[in-house]
Amino acid sequence: MLELDNIHSYYGKSHVLEGVSLHVDAGELVTLLGRNGAGKTTTLKSIMGLVDTRRGHITFEGHDVTGQQPFHIARRGVALVPEHRGIFSILTVEENLKISVRRGSRWQLEDIYQWFPRLKERRRNSGNALSGGEQQMLAIARALLNDPRILLLDEPTEGLAPVIIDEIVKILAAIRKEGLPVLLVEQNLRVCEAVADRHYILEQGQVVYHGSADDFQADPSIRDRYLALSA
Ligand code: ATP
Repeated sequence: MLELDNIHSYYGKSHVLEGVSLHVDAGELVTLLGRNGAGKTTTLKSIMGLVDTRRGHITFEGHDVTGQQPFHIARRGVALVPEHRGIFSILTVEENLKISVRRGSRWQLEDIYQWFPRLKERRRNSGNALSGGEQQMLAIARALLNDPRILLLDEPTEGLAPVIIDEIVKILAAIRKEGLPVLLVEQNLRVCEAVADRHYILEQGQVVYHGSADDFQADPSIRDRYLALSA
């Protein structure tokens, strides 16, 4: 459903992705791992049309979206939840949610409150009164209300307390159970191992490992070789 074929992406003259190929199939949760600066965020931005991809192809549900404007790509149902979360701090939780509802979306406000009881409790609070974890939940909830066909998540657990990370893991597992495909950038291996079907590891803008969750877990040398500094 989402396929990157040998993509090369740049910031100005800086050649950051050097031939990345990966795919996410229907219903899969796939992680993108790698040390800081490996090119994980740039891969998500490339899919969204936010950086300059000069070679290779990005295909989503059979359509070549390489080089398209971000709003065209979003309209096809690709939703990015960026690291900075992008919620409106002067609006309440509920207002943040309501402006994201797409008519006919498979998830409506009541569904979201069932998935995220914490957001229901906090629905009258303004965005700037939320903890980091609550902001992250709100950002994911908003993306879901927009009825995406794939979710791209950039380090959703970064900087969060373990108890909140557990809540995010539960939400990721629920999203996977619903069959919504996810490409997850994550540094927390516990999170990745808890929810993913497959993993890719990036190093200096190239995929250096690709394997199933079982193969990855069975071979600790992989994480020692590629992830030791960030794990
Ligand atoms: P991190 O976990 O630190 O965010 P990452 O794997 O997501 O790491 P990217 O953010 O994709 O890495 O960055 C890949 C490379 O691109 C890094 O060398 C980074 O310095 C560079 N880079 C990122 N954003 C820009 C930018 N806006 N302009 C120029 N170079 C950039």
